[in-house]
Amino acid sequence: MNAHVYPALAEKQAEHAKWRQDIHRHPELGFEEHRTAKIVAEKLESFGLEVFTGYGKTGVVGKLSNGRGNRAVGLRADLDALPMQEKNEFGHKSVHDGVFHGCGHDGHTVMLLGAAEYLAKSKSFDGTIYFIFQPAEEGLSGGAAMVEDGLFTDFEMESVYGLHNWPQLPVGEFAVCEGPMMAAADVWDITISGKGGHAALPHLSTDSIVAASAVVQALQTIVSRTVNPQEPAVLSVTKFHAGDAYNVIPDEVKLSGGVRTFNPRVAERIEGKMREIAGQISEAHGCTASVDYRKNYPPVINTPEETRLCADVARGLAGEDKVDDKTTPVMGSEDFAFMLQERPGCYIFMGSAGGLGNGGGGGCMVHNPGYDFNDEALPLGATYWSRLAETLLPAS
Ligand SMILES: [Zn+2]
Ligand SMILES: [Zn+2]
Repeated sequence: MNAHVYPALAEKQAEHAKWRQDIHRHPELGFEEHRTAKIVAEKLESFGLEVFTGYGKTGVVGKLSNGRGNRAVGLRADLDALPMQEKNEFGHKSVHDGVFHGCGHDGHTVMLLGAAEYLAKSKSFDGTIYFIFQPAEEGLSGGAAMVEDGLFTDFEMESVYGLHNWPQLPVGEFAVCEGPMMAAADVWDITISGKGGHAALPHLSTDSIVAASAVVQALQTIVSRTVNPQEPAVLSVTKFHAGDAYNVIPDEVKLSGGVRTFNPRVAERIEGKMREIAGQISEAHGCTASVDYRKNYPPVINTPEETRLCADVARGLAGEDKVDDKTTPVMGSEDFAFMLQERPGCYIFMGSAGGLGNGGGGGCMVHNPGYDFNDEALPLGATYWSRLAETLLPAS
């Protein structure tokens, strides 16, 4: 890594790694981040920030003002861990069974804390910076909960920024793009009901398993046959639950899954086609279907001006050739999207591949049971946030 990390932040690397590993050891699920939120609030207060808690239940906002400027921006990190079992065996392994910082939000939290500490000391900006620590990013819409609790009405800010570590890129590289960068995520449940009965007398039943099997097969044709090939879309069936006995035809099957898209019209088209297929195929098998389709996360859409500025800041730190500002959007989703619906802004990927050889971090993607946030990335992430704030709100 040859990036221009601020010396004051490079010096803090070992201390920040300790903070990060402590949070990793004590992971908390969405809306339950009480310990983590307390640590964040206490540290922000100790740096001299004004602290507001209880936004989105466990969300925390730190306010830092300097100079006479009345402009304000928001920088956002996420606090929550995943409901999955960690497979690492190092000293900072999760102490909670089935809860694991498998997405690196422990690192995100510490990088933003590092920037708050730095900027509170350096006072190298003019205006107000809101440090936003949101709960429940992993599927529970904590970003939306903070917005509903008044994040943008209680705290006036002109733009808002997010960051995710990205283990597919080395530390010292960044990737971003204008427009849609991460997909909208919808979820759905289909219940197919028939007439259960004795497995030896199928002619007296209407078999919901056979109907549901046909529905699963037909759902595979929606993306390939009804969506414009130029439009990215994914439809996955991820649950198929039915039956308890060897000799009973169950009267109900529950199917579930997800849909990812960038264009809302494509999502609508998919939903409509799913209803048609589930209903009519079930009917052909003497069954009925009820479809519950829910829009979960909107797409992450980066606004042009803010994206150019973030790419420039990243280039200034990492070097001209280390920032891909036309990266391919990914079909994953991210609830920073709810904040980008309210204010212009930019969400960027920061390389985090590598690792300290502590058994994790190297070579695997987020959400892998062997993942660990790479502490080598901490000073660069904190420098990116600091430099971004200084660029957005230049000291007069
Ligand atoms: Zn995640
Ligand atoms: Zn994440």
